[in-house]
Amino acid sequence: MKCDVAVVGGGPAGWTAAVHLAETGLSTVLIGPDPFARWPNNYGAWRDEVEDWIDTLEHVWPRVEVRLDADRFHVLERSYVRFDNHRLQSKLRERGARAGLEILSCSVHKALHSPEASTLTLDDEGTVTATLVVDATGHRPALIHTARGRPPGIQVAYGVQATLEGGVIDRDRMLLMDFSADHLPADDRDPPTFLYAMPLAGDDVFVEETSLVARPAVDLELCRRRLDLRLAARGWRLGPVKEIERCFIPMGGPEPAAQRVVAFGGAAAAVHPATGYMIANVLRAGPRLAKAVSSVRDQREPTRWSRAAWDATWPADRRRAWMLYRYGMEVLLSMGISSTAEFFDTFFKIDPDHWQGYHSGDIKSGQVASAMWAVFMKASPRLRWQLMSKGFYALMPAWAS
Ligand SMILES: Cc1cc2nc3c(=O)[nH]c(=O)nc-3n(C[C@H](O)[C@H](O)[C@H](O)COP(=O)(O)OP(=O)(O)OC[C@H]3O[C@@H](n4cnc5c(N)ncnc54)[C@H](O)[C@@H]3O)c2cc1C
Repeated sequence: MKCDVAVVGGGPAGWTAAVHLAETGLSTVLIGPDPFARWPNNYGAWRDEVEDWIDTLEHVWPRVEVRLDADRFHVLERSYVRFDNHRLQSKLRERGARAGLEILSCSVHKALHSPEASTLTLDDEGTVTATLVVDATGHRPALIHTARGRPPGIQVAYGVQATLEGGVIDRDRMLLMDFSADHLPADDRDPPTFLYAMPLAGDDVFVEETSLVARPAVDLELCRRRLDLRLAARGWRLGPVKEIERCFIPMGGPEPAAQRVVAFGGAAAAVHPATGYMIANVLRAGPRLAKAVSSVRDQREPTRWSRAAWDATWPADRRRAWMLYRYGMEVLLSMGISSTAEFFDTFFKIDPDHWQGYHSGDIKSGQVASAMWAVFMKASPRLRWQLMSKGFYALMPAWAS
């Protein structure tokens, strides 16, 4: 099979890239072992970042709560959403079909490149020849040469969806973070974990105990055990489990250097290094990728197509922004429960434009720096010292650490 672009991977990144590329008229093939399988993860995002996908949402909450402890909390007047994976996948599938996107159910083994094209070998021995290959195979990319550098931090979470049979939950807000730890012995509160909770339709809830970021990763079992303790402390009793989510997300690893195969989504280390979010950014980056490739389509030189795609997805300023976010991640990695709570108490007191921009991962590096400066200015002397001293590791070259 021959095509303009072969997109490898049938997760959110692969489908988003493939649909947008096909819609520009490039002949595009999406390849994955089971491209129509339901995505297993639950995806949440801020509503204003996914306006184009409103018809694919399962639930929208008008406001969000962040709780630091029994006394300190913030109610954020910003709407939060959970995607309905079935609707999102159906929409992408329909748009893909209309645009002539071809789908192959196969795994890709390897890619060989010549000056004229790239050839992918599939597990059924077939081959696909394409001018451009996009690797969207997730956090363990199949084709990209990953950059060497400092290992990523890891977000770990254990989540359960079930009916809430006992206890009360405020149904018009989602709980983004609850760091309260009174239910844990004083010497067992680190590493910090928090509750992420979504009241869903009927009496259902999704509750997840999350380690925001740690290196090495916290044990999933710790999250599971703490979730039980926290639910008991809140007086929440769950009915039979409907779904379990086990979350392991690498964050802030070195982003890949530009190369012949283009990385997209998790394969491109595109997860926000300080929050673990990615889905909204991938949905926004799809059109940018497609526009960039389409703009050089008349020059049938594979290396030009790759360069245009890399420049669109990892422009120099985004790499600078990512370095600042990694600074933020290193600070978080160093903090125990009381500093973490103090940090987020300060973070959500800064101007909403600042923290919202910082969270989005789709702003200029200068804006990231302004948000960080705003936190610094609001911080206590003790927190300022941590902000100054703990993140520098991220700015040092990896070989120096
Ligand atoms: C449990 C969990 C919850 C998350 N929740 C959120 C959230 O709420 N909000 C948010 O913004 N982000 C979230 N993330 C982070 C991020 O958005 C997800 O990891 C997202 O799934 C990454 O998308 P992806 O398409 O890059 O990779 P994946 O979803 O991992 O998809 C990769 C695809 O590539 C295929 N593949 C792999 N190898 C090959 C091969 N050799 N040949 C062909 N195909 C191959 C796989 O079968 C798979 O379909 C979450 C992550 C996890 C793990």
